[in-house]
Amino acid sequence: MKSYQLVAANAPLELVETETPEPQGTEVLVRVTACGVCHSDLHFWHGFYDLGDGTKMTLEDRNIALPFTMGHEPVGEVVAYGPDVETDVKIGETRLVFPWTGCGDCARCDEGNEQDCADVAPLGVRRPGGYADHIIVPHPRYLVDIEGVDPHYACTLACAGVTAFSALKKAKALAADDKLVIIGAGGVGLTGVGIATEYIANEKIVVDLDEEKLAAAREAGADHTINPKREDASARVAELTVAGAGAVVDFVGSTETVTFGMEVLRRGGSYILVGLYGGRIDIPTLALPTRDIALRGSYVGNLGEMHELMALVKAGKVDPIPVASRPMSQVTETLKDLEEGRIVGRMVVVPDGV
Ligand SMILES: [Zn+2]
Ligand SMILES: [Zn+2]
Repeated sequence: MKSYQLVAANAPLELVETETPEPQGTEVLVRVTACGVCHSDLHFWHGFYDLGDGTKMTLEDRNIALPFTMGHEPVGEVVAYGPDVETDVKIGETRLVFPWTGCGDCARCDEGNEQDCADVAPLGVRRPGGYADHIIVPHPRYLVDIEGVDPHYACTLACAGVTAFSALKKAKALAADDKLVIIGAGGVGLTGVGIATEYIANEKIVVDLDEEKLAAAREAGADHTINPKREDASARVAELTVAGAGAVVDFVGSTETVTFGMEVLRRGGSYILVGLYGGRIDIPTLALPTRDIALRGSYVGNLGEMHELMALVKAGKVDPIPVASRPMSQVTETLKDLEEGRIVGRMVVVPDGV
């Protein structure tokens, strides 16, 4: 099989040919037909996460060894099963691969929150991912039915989609008069706007620094858009709300966005931090009790949410983000374009010969 592997930080991904693996035990072999390129892969590519104040969390800190195959939004055709697989999924079916796989054998995995497993080992993060023409999936339960959904768009649901959905679900407890602020209209943020359009009845205010992304957000159903480069964003939120936003979902997660988002939250509101941009925040501890606000993170989503989201998509209740495709040989170029903010919506990469 061919895979595009990360061999050194910042180096172009390298085409590596290896023996196509045989699925063991409960594993399933999937022939990848497309894989979405996610912004979070940039952290891998550069070799670290920014913890703010000049501190970094490296791949070594996360026990991730190179070379490594990234790609956590794969769609493909089921080609072979391990000897212990019991499933209704037939060979030849095209499925979305849910990548957020845990150990499968602990309390968190049992309750269906594999993303919170102490030994979480996602595909494309800790197990070989989808920038390859084949991928081993640990168990058939991760094969998600996408019947009737465009497979390239389906890719985006494995990370951008389920991440946005899980965060919006946490923000959903809004009062009737509340407004929801969404920060960031990149791949995940824009996906969030598209999901929120029907899923959350309250008015949506989208904040981003890029006019093109804001236009895409309006297209996807944003009621109001704010560009902090052009106006005082806090004043504008104050103008649009009674006493601040009922919830803020932050798909960026920088020092600036969190500071802004906490500021525009109403008393009793919730702040949901999703983006991995990195940085530090300095907030008075008193702010949480005295303003009765909640500050929480949201990491990807669980398999139940994946199915819930897929049902919404199949029912036509999600406005799809724009998706384009390129040959997988251009994956490094795609990472660069993503970094430079040159991609609106999502780019998927397609293995040679597909
Ligand atoms: Zn991702
Ligand atoms: Zn587990």
